[in-house]
Amino acid sequence: MMTLPPEVQRRLSEVAGLRVLPGAELRHHTRFRLGGPCWLLADAEAPQAFEAAYRILAGSQLRWTSIGRGTNLIVSDEGYSGAILRYSAHSLETDEDTVIVDAGAELNDLIDFANAHSLAGMEAMAGIPGWVGAAIYGNAGAYGQSINQRVESVRYFDGGSVGEWSNEECGFRYRHSRFKEDKRLQILSARLRFQRGEQAALEGKSAQIRATRDAKFPPAMACAGSIFKNYLWKELPEQARAAVPPDRIIEGKVPAGWFLEQIGAKGMQVGGIRVADYHANLIYNTGSGTTADLIALLTTLKTRARHEFNLSLEEEVQYVGFEDAS
Ligand SMILES: Cc1cc2nc3c(=O)[nH]c(=O)nc-3n(C[C@H](O)[C@H](O)[C@H](O)COP(=O)(O)OP(=O)(O)OC[C@H]3O[C@@H](n4cnc5c(N)ncnc54)[C@H](O)[C@@H]3O)c2cc1C
Repeated sequence: MMTLPPEVQRRLSEVAGLRVLPGAELRHHTRFRLGGPCWLLADAEAPQAFEAAYRILAGSQLRWTSIGRGTNLIVSDEGYSGAILRYSAHSLETDEDTVIVDAGAELNDLIDFANAHSLAGMEAMAGIPGWVGAAIYGNAGAYGQSINQRVESVRYFDGGSVGEWSNEECGFRYRHSRFKEDKRLQILSARLRFQRGEQAALEGKSAQIRATRDAKFPPAMACAGSIFKNYLWKELPEQARAAVPPDRIIEGKVPAGWFLEQIGAKGMQVGGIRVADYHANLIYNTGSGTTADLIALLTTLKTRARHEFNLSLEEEVQYVGFEDAS
């Protein structure tokens, strides 16, 4: 494995408040517990450290990327030939119906904070793992709520200066934002607007949803949640549309899991990577899996879906370390 040039590593080590881990094994930083080493992992808890590290990496012409909690990543077995930056600032502040939150706050801490302040609008997202920055990046959501419904504005750093986008400028759609289109833009914080609710009812709802989710995604399960995106009914190819029973169309969407079930995904296994017996869109590492096993399994599923339904399965997860391959 190559490493960062010593000069770049030295400059990063001198940034106050930056924790630098050369050669970090990414399997220790992803929920799937997959992935080889990166050249260096750098953690910044304050904007000054994050911006300084960003400038050094961008100026070095080396490959680098950012990650959050690592719950939505597939990292190559070979790892990542470059540096990885994490922005882990996590403060939460409220002012009447708004919350200002740093990108490195746990989404679940934000939800608990909002519930405790009788702020409604994210209680049904309880149990989605990961940090707020990534939740905005991928417009995370569940049970009829998504983070774009609460975003008023987002502050980001583009390598030169700090900018701010309104909700509209963020270009949100299903599991998408403009931050996905331009990886140079790194989210620093967001202002979210809530409605007034009743604390006990909000906490009750979150607790009930967490219990349901814990049964589906046991907290120790090495996975990335649902692997493939669900479909908007109107965007499905004709062949796929014709096959879907009407009762599987919910709020204009069809779960990818329905198609996966039809093609025999449940219980399929390649090496140490398995599709859950009870959920065709949930793939997990039994403990001995590799990313190569995972890719082989995903490829088989995609081929079958294409063949049987003329359907392109599209990953919800983000890939890291496959840049050379593509
Ligand atoms: C058990 C389980 C259940 C899940 N259920 C759901 C669900 O119901 N709904 C849902 O939407 N998702 C779900 N997910 C997926 C995942 O939780 C979300 O995608 C989450 O937002 C990822 O957060 P993370 O911090 O782990 O991001 P990571 O996986 O570390 O990173 C994801 C992407 O975000 C980018 N990113 C991270 N931080 C920033 C930043 N500050 N600025 C710009 N880009 C950034 C990274 O570059 C990366 O491409 C689930 C995952 C698991 C494991």
